Amino acid sequence: MRVELLCTGDELVTGLTPDTNSPDLEARLFELGIKVQRVVLVGDVREDIARALREAASRADVVIVSGGLGPTADDFTAECAAVAAGVPLVEDAGTLRFLRERAQQRGRELTPNVARMALVPEGAEVVPNPVGAAPLFIVRMGGCRLYFLPGVPREYRTLVDGEVVPRVRTELELRAGRTYRAFRLLRTVRVPESVLDARVAPLAKAHPRVVFGFRTHAPENQLKLMAEAPTQAEADAALAAAEAAARAELGLAVYGADGDTYTGVLARLLTEARATLSLAESCTGGLISAQLTAVPGASSFLLGGAVVYTEQMKMAWAGVSAELLERHGAVSNPVAMAMAEGIRAACQTTYGLSVTGFAGPTGGTAEDPVGTVYCALAVEGAPTRCERFSIAGDRDLVRLFAASYALELLRERLLTAPSSP
Ligand code: ATP
Ligand code: MG
Repeated sequence: MRVELLCTGDELVTGLTPDTNSPDLEARLFELGIKVQRVVLVGDVREDIARALREAASRADVVIVSGGLGPTADDFTAECAAVAAGVPLVEDAGTLRFLRERAQQRGRELTPNVARMALVPEGAEVVPNPVGAAPLFIVRMGGCRLYFLPGVPREYRTLVDGEVVPRVRTELELRAGRTYRAFRLLRTVRVPESVLDARVAPLAKAHPRVVFGFRTHAPENQLKLMAEAPTQAEADAALAAAEAAARAELGLAVYGADGDTYTGVLARLLTEARATLSLAESCTGGLISAQLTAVPGASSFLLGGAVVYTEQMKMAWAGVSAELLERHGAVSNPVAMAMAEGIRAACQTTYGLSVTGFAGPTGGTAEDPVGTVYCALAVEGAPTRCERFSIAGDRDLVRLFAASYALELLRERLLTAPSSP
């Protein structure tokens, strides 16, 4: 089934209001296995709206139109629908009665501009709006069904959920040859997009029913798997096989799926291991703390930490020696390790995690230029581990990835040696 969305309104094409109605509906339709083929935004120009309606109706089986059904002078979508369908506008008696009663309840007269909302293209099916004034109406043009909804997001959503989605579902069930879909998002950090692609792309051949897609949302790179098949069971099976192959290839790099969050997964691992954590953050300035404390119940594993931004505070709060700072500099492997060990000792935690680096845009040295970050993880009874990273990007990105890489040291440790802190 080919579905298009058409949103009208000057506010949508002048940067005043982002179109939030469409993503909502796209997600609802996608759950039904329908991928919307086109979304069109049109300003408040009669000829443009009428033309866009005709064009969409000539391509699609279903067009869902929003906006311009209200009482103001810039609301003329019904008029355009009538022009596009080649029929006159007629007054819908039920809607007129409803509008009159609604006005009376509010102690008002029915004004001509409000009464205009009862005008619909001749032959349209009219469905009352339970949360507003302008009704939903449905018009047939050739082989296409067009649904006209008010633009107000609350009214739009209510009518989408209550009327449009159930009708589209029914229509879909009546059709033969519908496509069923199943969807999985695998989430990774630390794997560059090109590496992810190189490792996963060869799998695609063995899974012809699955589309392999990639998405970057720093610091994450995500693998999107979408299976398409003539039945839901086949789509689910194709997805499960592709997911298993991708997970086998990527191993621990996949931290979670779908709605999982990185910190949520890490919190679960720490809680399961009954482990506690302390942090010594330099260039991330508390970012890791902020990320972890966003998880409800974080106090069960995060005991505390320190932002040790200057050398003085690295000594005072993380127990780093003056001699080490003098000899290696604050951004160095030995200092990162001393910070992790010092904060762990001070907070008496299972793990101590540290970050020190050059976030830029200035600073850095010849050997350790801007973007160099050292992360270290200290744990009782095992050698402290430190890794050096070279992060490309501006200050915000360096800090974001530094936090992410530091936490990855911890996640790897929890997954590979969960019971031996
Ligand atoms: P009204 O009765 O309020 O006039 P309407 O059907 O005429 O309803 P519009 O006038 O186009 O709808 O829009 C009403 C409100 O909804 C406006 O505030 C507008 O910014 C907002 N709106 C319209 N379309 C969208 C959209 N696609 N996404 C988000 N907001 C929208
Ligand atoms: Mg309006």
